[in-house]
Amino acid sequence: MSSRRDFLQKFAASAIAWPVLNQYHTVSLSEIHDQQPYDGPILKVAIMGLGSYGTRVAEAMKDCKKAKLVGVISGTPSKIPTWQKKYDIPEKNCYNYENYDKIKDNPDIDAVYVITPNSLHHEAVLRLAKAGKHVICEKPMAISAQQGQEMVDACKAANVKLLIGYRMHFEPKTLEIIKMRNEGEFGKILFFQGLSGFRIGDPTQWRLNKELAGGGAMMDIGIYSINGARYMVGEEPFWVSAQETKNDPVKFKEGVDETIQFQLGFPGGAVASCLSTYSMRNLDRFFLNGENGFAELLPATGYGPIKGRTNKGELTHPHVTHQTVQMDEMSDIILQGKQPIVPLDGEEGVKDMKIIDAIYKAVRTGNKIPLNL
Ligand code: NDP
Repeated sequence: MSSRRDFLQKFAASAIAWPVLNQYHTVSLSEIHDQQPYDGPILKVAIMGLGSYGTRVAEAMKDCKKAKLVGVISGTPSKIPTWQKKYDIPEKNCYNYENYDKIKDNPDIDAVYVITPNSLHHEAVLRLAKAGKHVICEKPMAISAQQGQEMVDACKAANVKLLIGYRMHFEPKTLEIIKMRNEGEFGKILFFQGLSGFRIGDPTQWRLNKELAGGGAMMDIGIYSINGARYMVGEEPFWVSAQETKNDPVKFKEGVDETIQFQLGFPGGAVASCLSTYSMRNLDRFFLNGENGFAELLPATGYGPIKGRTNKGELTHPHVTHQTVQMDEMSDIILQGKQPIVPLDGEEGVKDMKIIDAIYKAVRTGNKIPLNL
């Protein structure tokens, strides 16, 4: 009885809210559909690396309909009971870095999300592929294109899927700009600017250790401008040039880049001008310029809300928790073969790694480096 009254009250409330909402935002059929209960397959996920981002993903997954956190892999035994309690994880789904190959005998885990320091992704993905589990791997997928390719090959050989944690590929304002670009709204694309950076703190953290990070700001934050240049322009670049500035060689040791500017050339005639840094605040902007219009995302890649505008006006899609949408979409990709609008498979990750390799080479040699993606 009360449920009918609740329904009518909710319906009345939404009937009032809708016209207001619709001034800014067209509610799509898929959004209405998303309000329906879900009874399809659920991706059962274990997280490897219970650090800062692993925690964010776990929290976001509480709201997933199509993915569920069911296991953990951690090198810190003291973290495990807390996670077990918080997310209702049974003992049999808890592993450490020595014994996680045994996950192959655990039918209750479909996929592992690797959220450890960058240089540890390669070995983990190889071992998980061997264990027959699908893998979601954080960016950067590896610390070189060669490692990335080995990861792609291992997952192919094991017949498991490999996806990279590019959460912006599901962000509504980003997708709207891509749609507008595909529909020719901006005309011929001529220019992209990507600014990606923050001021890094604690000098002892793994992000400033070449062994674990594989590099510096470029691996960690500059990769957003690399990946973003590709999905915003909608083409693969065919050359890159790059220049490095290092003002603090004590904090940013040999092999750990502080600030790099780089330029990408695209076959359609567009150029990209990007900045990657660990030394400046307030740098998270994408700007796309075409013959007939423009699009700006500012901030472009933070956890949100993302803000966007084009020559047609402000983008007003509601904020969604990136990692919740990402994990629901990844469930569809892995379990139901759904094709994402912007691909994020291992091959896509390798393309970004090839660009990073070429950026470092361009810095070392001072040359413009051709790319073959
Ligand atoms: P943290 O340092 O917060 O966590 C990393 C975790 O990895 C640790 O807590 C630890 O978990 C595990 N680990 C295993 N070996 C080591 C080691 N030798 N040193 C340090 N940690 C180790 O890092 P983040 O969570 O910020 O980053 C992890 C990955 O996620 C990186 O690749 C990063 O680029 C990516 N990331 C992606 C983001 C995105 O928006 N897509 C945002 C932030 C990070 P345990 O104790 O359980 O073993």
